[in-house]
Amino acid sequence: MPSTSSYQRVLLKISGEALMGAREFGLDPHTVERVGREIQAVHELGIQVCLVIGGGNIFRGIAGAAQGMQRASADYMGMLATVINALAMQNALEQLGVNTRVQSAIPMATVCEPYIRRRAQRHMEKGRVVIFAAGTGNPFFTTDTAAALRASEMGCDALLKGTKVDGVYSADPKTTPDAVRYDHLTYLDVLSRDLKVMDASAVSLARENHIPILVFSIEKDGAFAEVMSGNGKFTIISDGE
Ligand code: UDP
Repeated sequence: MPSTSSYQRVLLKISGEALMGAREFGLDPHTVERVGREIQAVHELGIQVCLVIGGGNIFRGIAGAAQGMQRASADYMGMLATVINALAMQNALEQLGVNTRVQSAIPMATVCEPYIRRRAQRHMEKGRVVIFAAGTGNPFFTTDTAAALRASEMGCDALLKGTKVDGVYSADPKTTPDAVRYDHLTYLDVLSRDLKVMDASAVSLARENHIPILVFSIEKDGAFAEVMSGNGKFTIISDGE
């Protein structure tokens, strides 16, 4: 189906915690399915979609390092956690009738494809949702940076960051009721004010490659498709006004 939206190809980044629902750890199948429906709705608009999912609901390298592990070893565990989330999302999307492929930055031939840039592009051209797993494949990085990297490699028109709130605020609106919400920010605003949207290397990479970052709520039903149709509530981070 041809896309009527101004976006032809986008990358959605969600944290592992977005798949946790009300749980304190791991995956909530109903939440995974709900997020799957959000992705399905955008896919049905004819927009090519790829995904990067974090692993913080299962394991974070920094937490392992804090408990005395070597940071690099702990980070590899974190990357494996993202593969678990990718497989869960693949399963949910396929049950909804959406064709998918998982590509991992750490090759694991019996579980999923290895990351191959041109193959991933071809999958999307054929209407498959591609889920990029294992982050960048390198310790000391985050899945935010992986998202900006893959969005750049795939030539995406936008990098979507699905969060718990409907945009970027001056402080956490859940704990600071008078926090200011922004409709538009420049990459430099985010970097210089140290706004907690994505980590600095992810924002810098998006800036260098002129990929706008759209921050919206992944918890509100239908929000992803609304943002892609030019409606809905989101904060856009880009070069100019
Ligand atoms: N990670 C890594 N390299 C990457 C991406 C992720 O080492 O390129 C590890 C890191 O330990 C991180 C964990 O994987 O803590 C889970 O990713 P992240 O914390 O970004 O997940 P999120 O907060 O988005 O759920």
